[in-house]
Amino acid sequence: MRLVFATHNEHKLKEVQLLLPKHIHLLSLNDIGLEEEIPETGETLEENAQIKVDYVTQEYGYNCFADDTGLLVNALNGEPGVYSARYAGPQNNANQNMDKLLAALEGISDREAQFKTVIALSLNGNSISFNGIVYGKITTKKAGNRGFGYDPIFMPNGYSLTFAELPVSVKNKIGHRGKAVAQLIAYLNTHKNCS
Ligand code: IMP
Repeated sequence: MRLVFATHNEHKLKEVQLLLPKHIHLLSLNDIGLEEEIPETGETLEENAQIKVDYVTQEYGYNCFADDTGLLVNALNGEPGVYSARYAGPQNNANQNMDKLLAALEGISDREAQFKTVIALSLNGNSISFNGIVYGKITTKKAGNRGFGYDPIFMPNGYSLTFAELPVSVKNKIGHRGKAVAQLIAYLNTHKNCS
C-alpha cells in the first residue's frame, strides 16, 4: 500500500519508513509532485495536521498522514504552541525563537512546558489522530548541541539534561514525536489487512 507522509523532510520520512510493516510504502510530498508547502492556516496543531491530510487526500487521492508539533509553555498560556516554528518571525530561526522565549520567561519561576505532536491519518476514508506529549521545563540558558529547534532549552521531567544534551535514542524513546509515531505504527500494524 502507498501511504503519503505529508512532509518535505526526507529524513523524517526515512525514519518512519524503517518502523513500518513492509507492505506500506511511504511517499513524501516531493514524491507525489507537490513541491510547495501546504499553508498551515489552522489555529491548533490538530487543525494544521488535518489540513495537510485533507489537501493530499482531496487533491491527490492518496491515503495520508501528517504531523504537527508545538512547544506549549504554561506561563505563556500555551505559547508559542502552533506558532513554534515562526515564534520570532517567518524566517524560522531556532536561535532567535529560543532567545525570544527565554526573554519572555525572564524572572518567571513557573518554567513548566510540554512538547506536543499531533499525527492525523486518513486511511481508506477513515480519519483518526494520535497525540504524543512530553512534559518538562524551560531552562534559563541554552545547553547542548544535539537535536534541533527548542531542544537546547527543554529539560524533560526526570532528567537533569536538555534534549540537546541527551542521546537521540533517549529523546526518541521519551519524546513527543516518538510517542505519537509509536501509536501510528501500532494502528497501521493492526489495520494492515484493510488495504
Ligand atoms: P514541526 O511541526 O515538526 O515542523 O515543528 C514545528 C516547530 O516546533 C519546529 O520548527 C521547531 O521549532 C519545534 N519543534 C518541533 N519538534 C521539535 C523537537 O523535537 N525539538 C525541538 N523543537 C521542536
